[in-house]
Amino acid sequence: MTTSLHPALGEASRNFLQREHGLLIDGCMVEADSGRRTDILDPATGEVIATAAEASATDVDRAVDAARRAFEGPWRKTTPAERTRLMLRFAELIEAHAEELADLECINSGKPRVFCRNGDVVGIAEMLRYMAGWTTKMGGQTPNVSLPGEWHAYTLREPVGVVGQIIPWNFPLNMAMWKIAPALATGCTIVLKPSEQTPLTALRLGELALEAGIPPGVLNVVTGFGNPAGAAIAAHPGVDKVAFTGSGETGRRILQGASGNLKRVSLELGGKSPVIVFPDANLEAAAAGVCSSIFFHAGQICAAGSRLYVHERAYDQVLDAVARRANSIRLGHGLDVGTEMGPVISRRQLDRVMGYIHSGQEQGATLLAGGGTTGERGFFVQPTVLTGVKPGMAVHDEEIFGPVLCAMSFDDDDLDRISATANATTYGLAASIWTSDLGTAHKMARRMQAGIVNVNALSSPDSALPYGGYKQSGWGRERGYDAIEMYTEVKAVAINLNV
Ligand code: ADP
Repeated sequence: MTTSLHPALGEASRNFLQREHGLLIDGCMVEADSGRRTDILDPATGEVIATAAEASATDVDRAVDAARRAFEGPWRKTTPAERTRLMLRFAELIEAHAEELADLECINSGKPRVFCRNGDVVGIAEMLRYMAGWTTKMGGQTPNVSLPGEWHAYTLREPVGVVGQIIPWNFPLNMAMWKIAPALATGCTIVLKPSEQTPLTALRLGELALEAGIPPGVLNVVTGFGNPAGAAIAAHPGVDKVAFTGSGETGRRILQGASGNLKRVSLELGGKSPVIVFPDANLEAAAAGVCSSIFFHAGQICAAGSRLYVHERAYDQVLDAVARRANSIRLGHGLDVGTEMGPVISRRQLDRVMGYIHSGQEQGATLLAGGGTTGERGFFVQPTVLTGVKPGMAVHDEEIFGPVLCAMSFDDDDLDRISATANATTYGLAASIWTSDLGTAHKMARRMQAGIVNVNALSSPDSALPYGGYKQSGWGRERGYDAIEMYTEVKAVAINLNV
């Protein structure tokens, strides 16, 4: 490797980066069949920090076989209480390696290290513990049947089987654990494919799972590209369910691939989430929330509040505060102390985001803040605020996945019309309402076509709260008990007691 790594990186993460990473199949690190490798970059510098193996369809076959053997073998035989203990041990190991995981997450995803350490690493340990609790508590029911004579009927909740999990690059740790934890809790086995751009922490999680005593083959990690590796998972006849987070376009491809064996499919896709600020809101808090929602992790969040609607009476005050905050956000390497916003993930993503900003301007929007790139290296886009945005403009209608806020005002007090405007999108992931009126809060929450509604808050990252979207934002819910349901089948058993 030619790169000199950031001086703030700890020894453990340095050692990890220097290893020759393979695929984690059946408890062993193995080379990809093709022998091909991909460069892994630090998006804040654009430099290579590691390489990863590129899995092909035959590697996916190996991983699926290992997952099937584990599902039918040791994992099936573990009791719920044993699974709970293993998951709690896994969570402890994550905490024991918190600094290393935070370093790796930061240098590969670009997110400021403090968020990686206090948000992502803490969050995934919590997610494991939350789901570990369900292991011994989930179960079936004893429905009151009305069949003639006497019957004993009950339902069983059983693991769906071998699950393929395909995740994106924005939150490599979180996205992995939102999928791994409910799968482990329910007794499924896993073939996880992280993004080709951010495979490092998933590999480390796989090792820690083994160290925790989770049997080989339960959690397999195949690194590589969407095509061939992701496509092979989606289409694999030996995979019983595929869970995907990423773009709508890829989600549709996965759906097609999955149609062969009609495997279960859950999709967590994009969003174009509205933030609605009423004039009675705490406007300073609202402005801070608006900025965190769209500028945190450079807007690379599916639930980012990217369309801002502010009541006319509050518009100038809120927009002034938003612009002030946007202009003062400190951009930098996630490992530099004081960095508030890092880069976007790649040159390609930077070009895409800049393309949207330019198209917005060409279509009549005005720049209130940002609008350019910055830094001598790496992929930095300034926190950007566009005003004068209208439906029909690409910046209004499409998910940008960058630090670009589209601001609009409304002069109406009719909640039906306000919500109809905010709902006029193909997406339905999240919505954020800012008001001090309890009635407005509850009424708006009911009117929003979104899987997640936050009131006077920009997000609600709790393992117990279901996460997923209406409309084209996806199918199914991750987190909470809903995730347990997504990884299980229900079996109705009816016993005729009259014979
Ligand atoms: P992004 O634009 O965020 O990279 P994608 O939806 O393309 O979003 O990627 C998310 C994940 O989907 C990544 O792990 C990627 O490798 C994977 N992927 C991309 N294309 C395919 C495909 N055709 N089939 C399955 N997985 C894919």
